[in-house]
Amino acid sequence: MQKTYELLSDVPTQLFINGHWVDADGGETEDVINPATGEVIAKVAKGGAVEAERAIRAAQKAFPIWSSMDVDDRAGILRKIADLIIEKADDLAKIMTLEQGKPVAQAKGEILAGAESVRWYAEEMRRIYGETVPGPNGQIFLVQKEPLGVVGAITPWNFPSSMITRKISPALAAGNTVVLKPSPETPLSATSLMAIFQEAGLPDGAVNLVTGDAPAIGKALTSSDVVRKITFTGSTAVGKLLFGQSAETLKKVSLELGGHAPFIVFDDAPIDTVISELVAAKFRNNGQVCTSPNRIFIHHSILNEFTEKLVSAVKQVKVGNGLMDGVDTGPLIREDAIEKIDKQIADAVEKGANLKTGGKRLTDGAFADGYFYAPTVLAGVTNKMRIYYEETFGPVIPVISFKDDDEVIAMANDTVYGLASYFYTGDLKRIAQVSRSLQYGMVGVNSNAVAYPQAPFGGVKHSGFGRENGHQGIDDYVNIKFINLKYNI
Ligand code: NAD
Repeated sequence: MQKTYELLSDVPTQLFINGHWVDADGGETEDVINPATGEVIAKVAKGGAVEAERAIRAAQKAFPIWSSMDVDDRAGILRKIADLIIEKADDLAKIMTLEQGKPVAQAKGEILAGAESVRWYAEEMRRIYGETVPGPNGQIFLVQKEPLGVVGAITPWNFPSSMITRKISPALAAGNTVVLKPSPETPLSATSLMAIFQEAGLPDGAVNLVTGDAPAIGKALTSSDVVRKITFTGSTAVGKLLFGQSAETLKKVSLELGGHAPFIVFDDAPIDTVISELVAAKFRNNGQVCTSPNRIFIHHSILNEFTEKLVSAVKQVKVGNGLMDGVDTGPLIREDAIEKIDKQIADAVEKGANLKTGGKRLTDGAFADGYFYAPTVLAGVTNKMRIYYEETFGPVIPVISFKDDDEVIAMANDTVYGLASYFYTGDLKRIAQVSRSLQYGMVGVNSNAVAYPQAPFGGVKHSGFGRENGHQGIDDYVNIKFINLKYNI
């Protein structure tokens, strides 16, 4: 483990502006905490509005250079970035585990998924096609896609690497330049990526990073007329704030916000297979995932058998420091995450839910200084309980019983959120009807996975708008220009 900590000495902790690593103006720093141990593992530069404005100017200066570079050369740099991420994946994964907590194997999976996203957009950028449309009187209408200019990207801590690559790859592919503000909990994954961008030969200023005072940096990005787009992944509350702040400068906005995914199990689904899919999805990143199954609807005819088998499976989930072998799930990110889960569980139990396993913070031995929580199953959950409507973002499985298809569709849609949804059945007619009726941006049918580089990712309702991944992911980073072309004058 000592060797892993030594990795940190090579990780940059400064701001990255115009191709240079620099301190915040006042020399201020903020601590990065290992959530498994409570230790301060690094001190990272704490920038603010002034540094953000400097980064915006650098991105503005780099825009004509990057956007006019030959597409093959730009694609080559993106491919090089992907190669370097893969080459350094083991170290990047350990750095992520130290600041974020997830098991190293999951961290490495995230790193590799990020590399895949960069590589996918290195290919897709050659296909940012326009159109020619026949116009009247011999005119030819050209429809072209152009980069927007400078993009402001704000990212969360739960996927501290892939949320960055997912935004930066399509932004760069379309010819934009970027100012990134990562989460204060996980800046080291972000600075490690910046070092890779630099090594891959990205021109100075094409991507800049400012860590620090979130409201000040957010305000600088949203109020700037140079920044033509804000792309944000995080909570619904902050997304709404940034959307409002962006109104004055009428910039494009993409928001990937909170979720409250229903996970529906019909009576014909194979119980053992579904339980292993549910447990894998729920305890991935300790439930701190916007697409995590959050409300588990089980047909009443299989409820008892399902709940019993689920509880035994959940009791097998191994919690621990993500650096240790054999750990399935790590700590939560912060103290307040524990408080939120405790409150949701206390409220549910008070209103009649049945705590089947877990339901408490883990504090013994190696758990003493971290933010660990016991994997939890709550049965008998109803719509009178907070957990039915609030995103949990933790290792809790609330089980809800339903009688028929119409009832469960209504229950699944009874939320302000609309990101991911899942259901399990072998009945084709039901598959067609339920997938049509779920008011969500993404539906997993007999599948617990919805995030792939080639498929559009995003939500509806209070889960936000805009799409990442897929060829649709490029559309959010381009302007459409119409040119009316007449060959004869
Ligand atoms: P958060 O909204 O607290 O923070 C996200 C980012 O916004 C961080 O970088 C933070 O520093 C920054 N921020 C906070 N206040 C700001 C302000 N006033 N101005 C500018 N920036 C500000 O969210 P979080 O706790 O980091 O992440 C968890 C949330 O993210 C959950 O709700 C989760 O569902 C959501 N999420 C959504 C997706 C998705 O794709 N839809 C993916 C991952 C996480």
